[in-house]
Amino acid sequence: AKTAGRNALRFFDPDMQQAMNRRAQLEAQLHNALRLQQFLLLYQPQVDTKGGVRGVEVLVRWSHPEQGMVSPGEFIPLAEDTGLILPLGHWVMETAMRQQAQWRRDPLLGSIDVSINVSARQFHQEHFVQMVQELLQRTGADPRRIQLELTESLLLDQVDAVIATMQALRALGVGFALDDFGTGYSSLSYLKRLPLDVIKIDQGFVRDLLDEPRDASIARTIIALADALSLGVVAEGVETEAHFQFLQSHGCKRFQGYLFGRPMPLPDFEDRARQCPYP
Ligand code: C2E
Ligand code: CA
Ligand code: CA
Ligand code: CA
Repeated sequence: AKTAGRNALRFFDPDMQQAMNRRAQLEAQLHNALRLQQFLLLYQPQVDTKGGVRGVEVLVRWSHPEQGMVSPGEFIPLAEDTGLILPLGHWVMETAMRQQAQWRRDPLLGSIDVSINVSARQFHQEHFVQMVQELLQRTGADPRRIQLELTESLLLDQVDAVIATMQALRALGVGFALDDFGTGYSSLSYLKRLPLDVIKIDQGFVRDLLDEPRDASIARTIIALADALSLGVVAEGVETEAHFQFLQSHGCKRFQGYLFGRPMPLPDFEDRARQCPYP
């Protein structure tokens, strides 16, 4: 009776009702958002130990006419549930590749690695490899500068099929980063088998590095692990100089976070990339 009571209460909870309304509304509007050109990309720098820009992560935003900027944390799950992630992911990839193609002849911008988030549903869709190949050809992007960010949960489901798809994409020249490392269920044997280039230390471990000895140990261990497997490592969520110093002192060579730049519009990113390295 207690449970039923709680459920009944929850059903009439105005906050919950409001959240459900918002979700339903966003979901309905998501269907037209692509056609109405309401999505845009922001660019967040990935820097070396001197603060020079070596890479960029492309992050999508939904510029909603009434709600303002809706974060991907809110609408990507909706897009995944509804299948809209397929056309949206295609748009993200095409736009990012067009951008790389424009940078391609620039000695500085042309050497920047462009990281694109790919969700499980996208990766597992039929003809994903052909789609990537077709986009590379159509946009003229340099495949060696394109890196796909995949999450652990994606990689651990149907490992053999995943590896086959990754190999086919590698043959096109595309590279891979393992996103949010440490938050999922990676086993070391899988990690060894997967054809990865980079591991990204999840920002959850970076955030509390300085006050949580265990998070510090995990971050150090991931850096050592990447080293042992000859993989690159990118620390996410680097917000302070102290975090940067700690990670650097333990051998991390690539960094992403507010200390070096928030996700920003294209012109700002291009300015940042041309700037003198961080002191
Ligand atoms: P993610 O792939 O882990 O992306 C990193 C997130 O951390 C971004 O949030 C970024 O803005 C944020 N971030 C970067 N530096 C810092 C920092 O120093 N401190 C803190 N607190 N946060 C930082 P964002 O842009 O809101 O994206 C959230 C998630 O949405 C992404 O997490 C990714 O999973 C997903 N996402 C974003 N764009 C795409 C996309 O084009 N396709 C897919 N499938 N997913 C996307
Ligand atoms: Ca990512
Ligand atoms: Ca991440
Ligand atoms: Ca994340």
